[in-house]
Parts: sequence; C-alpha cells; structure tokens
Amino acid sequence: MKNNNDKGLTDIASLGEFGLIDHLTRGIKHHHPETLMGVGDDAAVIDNGPLATIITKDLLVEGVHFDMVYTPLKHLGYKAVAVNLSDIYAMNARPRQILAGIAVSRRYSLEALEELYAGIRLACDKYNVDLVGGDTTTSKAGLFISITAVGQAEKEQVVYRSGARPNDLIFVSGDLGGAYCGQLVLQREKQAYRANPDTQPDISSYSYVIERQLKPEPRRDIIELLHEAGVRPTSMIDISDGLASEILHICKNSGTGATIYEEKIPLDRRMAQTAHEFNIDPTTCALSGGEDYELLFTISQSDYDKIKDISSVHPIGHITEAEQGHNLFTSSGQLVKLTAQGWDPIKAG
Ligand code: ADP
Ligand code: MG
Repeated sequence: MKNNNDKGLTDIASLGEFGLIDHLTRGIKHHHPETLMGVGDDAAVIDNGPLATIITKDLLVEGVHFDMVYTPLKHLGYKAVAVNLSDIYAMNARPRQILAGIAVSRRYSLEALEELYAGIRLACDKYNVDLVGGDTTTSKAGLFISITAVGQAEKEQVVYRSGARPNDLIFVSGDLGGAYCGQLVLQREKQAYRANPDTQPDISSYSYVIERQLKPEPRRDIIELLHEAGVRPTSMIDISDGLASEILHICKNSGTGATIYEEKIPLDRRMAQTAHEFNIDPTTCALSGGEDYELLFTISQSDYDKIKDISSVHPIGHITEAEQGHNLFTSSGQLVKLTAQGWDPIKAG
C-alpha cells in the first residue's frame, strides 16, 4: 500500500475498489446463524426457513456513475433499479421489494425528481417489485441514489460465485462491450457540444450502444429460461465491471482457473463498429468495459444439451484447475493471461 502524504496515511487508490472492500470487511464476524452469505457475492443471503432472502445495494453518484448532461432522469431512475435487480438475478433469485435513498441538492426541481421516480416506478412495474421505503436528504453537491433490493429464492436454488468446478462450461448472456461504447459516444458528443453549442449531435446511428449505456435491462429472462430448462448454474455473477474481472471473481471464489476463447465472446456488430471508430479493439470493450449487466455463469457439462438451443446464452470457455491460471485463447491463436482492467471507480476517481 502506498503512502501519499507526509502524515503517513494511505491513499485508497492504491487498494482499488475490491482491495478496499476486502480491507474494511476482513475478519467481520456474523452474530446470527441465519446469515448464510455476507460480503463477497453479488448479494447477501439470509436463511428464511425453506426460502432464502437475498439483499443487495448499489450507490450511484452524479459525476461518477452518471453525467447529467446526457442522462435523462427517467432513465437514471430506471437504471438505478435495474442494476440492483441484476445482482438479485445473479443469485438465481427473484426480486420482490426495493428501498430508495436519495440525496439531492436544490439544483433539482420537483419536476426533475418526478422524472427520476417515473423511471423507478417503470422498472418496479416491469420487474414486478414493490417500492417499500427509502430515505431522503439534502446534498451540497449533486445527486446520489442508493437502492437496496430484496429478493427471494428457494434455499437450494441460490447460486453463488463459488460453485464452479473444473470442466464446467462458462456461458454469458446477450452481448458485451456495448454499454462502454455508448459511454464513449455520449462523452464525445458532450465535448463537441461544449466546443460548439450550436451543433446538433447526430447520435441516431449509435442508438443501440447508447441504449446499452442508459437503459440496461437485468436478465430476468435468462433466469426463467434456465429454470424452465431444469438447469441450475454451478456459479453465477452479473457483468457490471467487464468480463475479465467477473471471470476472475468466479475463479477466486471457486478456487479454479478458466480458459475462454476470444472468438466465442458475443459481440454485437453495432458495438464493434463504434469500437473501431474509437480505435479500440471490440474484444477489449467486452473484457474491460463495464455496465453491460449480462449474466456470466457456469454449468456442469452434463447440462449442456438442456440449454444449447437457448439463443441468448453463449458458451465462451471452460473452468480449469487453479494451477492452469486464467487464460484467453485469442483469435490469432495465442494464449494470453486474463487480467482485470475493469472499470474501477476508486482508481479512476
Ligand atoms: P457488485 O459489483 O455485484 O455490486 P461489489 O463489487 O459492489 O458487487 O461488492 C462486492 C461485495 O462487497 C458485495 O458482497 C457487497 O455487498 C460488498 N460490499 C461492497 N461495499 C461494501 C462496504 N462498503 N461495506 C461492506 N460490504 C461491502
Ligand atoms: Mg454483481
């Protein structure tokens, strides 16, 4: 850890987000036997008889997670709910309730906050969850939104990050890298507007990637499809920080390695086009861009036939013994180490 000032205090940037969480929560003891999972997965799991209660929380900060120049408040409210529901689905559970905390400065009018809540309500209606409370306070700088989501699952249906075993197949849903490309476009248009406020941004040809950034959908459909197919993944996580980072989380928690194949990573043509325009390799966007909110999961090989016809999930590799490490087999035939360069708000900030 790095000391960055003459008082000998430690710069939190030297730990990174996950290092900081590890440091602050190391050695925390649970006082109750019903606390089945605490820090360290997509959500906490509480024993509730035959059922498990699943709880997760995310905090969105103006200027860090969203930019008011290009984020419609209705979309922001929707996204704040969506990203939490994604963590509930990642436990193979179903969301039931949310609480919404906001800190808001007087720069925001009542009408603006009504828009925010229109988005929150829309997501609640679409995903069948009840808004049951929250907290409201003032902020001196910008808007903060913190949503807590509560979900439910049959106890033996809950899927953790830790259940992957060697030879399991690795799958991802949807396609990756789009949300990051959407952000690149929105930031470029913001700069262009600042340089010349008379120009009208032409973003119509980027609508796919912009939607991926501004209005992500949590993958309830995947959870339902796997359920109908009679498949319980051995491990699962949602892709909020980039594919590489999430694979490393699964491997770390499961005590395994993994090999994935570049040519198998699902990329949308519109994402790849935008990435090329920015001189970025589309695979890099998938591996290291964030906020796609797709699901990454593993299944045992014997379940492959049950899900091979589901068009929205794609096999990208397999789990290995830990000693084999974390590898990406590139399209040009090289084996390279997978490293997490996922978006790290603490290092970035
Ligand atoms: P995700 O990306 O799935 O939302 P995070 O990386 O934010 O997960 O968090 C990883 C784990 O660390 C989760 O179990 C989360 O509840 C926990 N966590 C994050 N921040 C804190 C904190 N400040 N105090 C205690 N636990 C935390
Ligand atoms: Mg998650």
